[in-house]
Amino acid sequence: MVLLLFGPPGCGKGTQARLITNWMKIPSISTGEMLRAELRAGTELGRMAQSIMAAGGLVGDDIVNQMLTARIQCPDCRNGFLLDGYPRTVEQAEFLDALLARLGLPPAIVLHLDVPEDALVGRMISRRQCPTCSRVYNLLHQPPKSPGICDDDGTALITRKDDREHVFRERLKTYDDVTRPVLAHYHDHTYHQIRGDRSPGYIFEAITSVLEKELSGESLVN
Ligand code: ADP
Repeated sequence: MVLLLFGPPGCGKGTQARLITNWMKIPSISTGEMLRAELRAGTELGRMAQSIMAAGGLVGDDIVNQMLTARIQCPDCRNGFLLDGYPRTVEQAEFLDALLARLGLPPAIVLHLDVPEDALVGRMISRRQCPTCSRVYNLLHQPPKSPGICDDDGTALITRKDDREHVFRERLKTYDDVTRPVLAHYHDHTYHQIRGDRSPGYIFEAITSVLEKELSGESLVN
């Protein structure tokens, strides 16, 4: 099963990706995380992406398409995978369709986490992330057990540079201008809209009930 988690920055994709991964035992692939890893490793690609990410723009389609092509052919993706933050442009969506077909994989199932824009900025201000394992916290709704420390590995939590308010607003604008139109591309795919303005537990329940139906349909067909 190829799952695609779609939604604006701050809608909770990272949190749900982690829950889905644990539940379905499939890897979650975040192109944003992959780019941040390149940046931390100081690679040429990381250096190139840095200024674009810091300004709230999108890294070039060719670069992310290439990164993704290599990643989904890794052995851990054999039983399916979840995409978080990809595709973000219509070109990427068209590329992904062709790539999945070429690899003999089923078309992506789209889970759209829909959150009203005015809720997103408030969420972003209280968002913190573990730079080691990438787990996302929210100081208001999902705080770590010890203030400022990751529950899983004890690393000091950080605020992502691109979560500063002016950059975040730019990311929202990029989403509206370039990424939201990707939804129209998926009108003939399996598409589920999920209300994302609720607690992570509720959202995850909604997602699991959708996926249980998809999984039972899949086993009937196979
Ligand atoms: P969020 O989902 O919180 O907006 P991500 O971690 O997915 O953030 O992405 C961070 C940044 O990485 C984006 O703002 C963008 O600059 C870059 N990026 C991530 N995924 C893509 C993509 N598929 N295409 C182009 N740029 C991307």
